[in-house]
Amino acid sequence: MNRLTIINARVVDKPGLHTLHIEGEHFVARHSHSMTETETLDFHGALVLPGLLETHIHLDKACIIDRCCQQTGTLAEAISETARAKAHFTEQDVYQRGARVLEQAIVQGTTRMRTHIEIDPVIGLTGFRAIRRLQADYAWAVDLQLCVFPQEGLLNNPGTEALLCEALAQGADLLGGCPYTDSDPHGQIQRLFALAQQYNVDLDFHLDFDLLPENRLIETVIAETRRHQWGGRVTVGHVTKLSLLDREALHALGAQLAAAGVQVTALPATDLFLTARDRFALQPRGVAPIDELARCGVTCSLSTNNIANPFTPFGDASLVRQANLFANVRQLGTADDLLRCLSWISSQSAVLLRLTDYGLTPGCLADMTVFDVQRGEQIVAQIAPPIRGFKRGRQTFFRPQATLFPATLNKDVITQ
Ligand SMILES: [Zn+2]
Repeated sequence: MNRLTIINARVVDKPGLHTLHIEGEHFVARHSHSMTETETLDFHGALVLPGLLETHIHLDKACIIDRCCQQTGTLAEAISETARAKAHFTEQDVYQRGARVLEQAIVQGTTRMRTHIEIDPVIGLTGFRAIRRLQADYAWAVDLQLCVFPQEGLLNNPGTEALLCEALAQGADLLGGCPYTDSDPHGQIQRLFALAQQYNVDLDFHLDFDLLPENRLIETVIAETRRHQWGGRVTVGHVTKLSLLDREALHALGAQLAAAGVQVTALPATDLFLTARDRFALQPRGVAPIDELARCGVTCSLSTNNIANPFTPFGDASLVRQANLFANVRQLGTADDLLRCLSWISSQSAVLLRLTDYGLTPGCLADMTVFDVQRGEQIVAQIAPPIRGFKRGRQTFFRPQATLFPATLNKDVITQ
């Protein structure tokens, strides 16, 4: 059995240097056998997080930007261009592109991920099958949670519901929603709640994804969450409409979300890229103000959403970069603010994903992302790259420090 002692580690919430004990796949209070059988690793004061958590990404449509035509940069174009590319997706193609993103995410310190997967009569279960293979093949580094959803609509797209049910029967973990593409947005929300109850799975909606004050759906999600007693099992992503609200209205809605147990994910990269395309001067930021919602008691997270596709044509799978981006957009700069941003890619995301084994305490899964900083806020402020990662007690990557070659250094040393 794997027995590891980590010495001289810093953690976010306790000052000083700490020792962590790992046995098998978990942290333990102390080792059950003599220290001679235990490997010891000196972290030299580096800071340890219990893994970074991606709560919302689309592996199936990542890395397709070279197949798409971008003219308007709008959400409508992103959906239509992706649908055009999707018609040619094969299982191997989805697998290879997803693997590329997963390998990027692993070295950025991500240890668990909820990926959305598009299901409709054109793609069928092709994307789902590819991602399920990735789930098995990359389990050494990342736990993948599979969220199947009807990107092209549910009630307007016959055959989609049966495919979603088939995916759930074959091991999908939860249902996603995309009511804004449905002919009956309220009807889609109601139908997905009914299915979630039938299959006993959580829900994760793409919701209120524009900057228009009308046609808000978040109240419908709150009402359905209450009606089905699904509190703590429902997440809404984007909700860019919330950025239109003044303080009083936002806090009133935040109190309702917290009371109902509806959780919110901000996706700053996509939202900044796609929204307000009709504006020239003073473009609004249009990012869900989860910092204000968290003050109301709402469980929140920050995530990547898309990489190299018409929804977000760039990205390196760094959650720390998303936290820094959000801090910048929302003008959050104090140490406490930056620590909250860090929590939305780690500890708060664990609450949102309902993880019961997340942390550095005995009994938790021994996942670790290690940074060469002294304080947690520096990770976000500096966009610090992780220097090593662990999954279930086993090291998954190591990033050596960059080497400087001062002018005084011998040429032979540099070329070695
Ligand atoms: Zn999404």
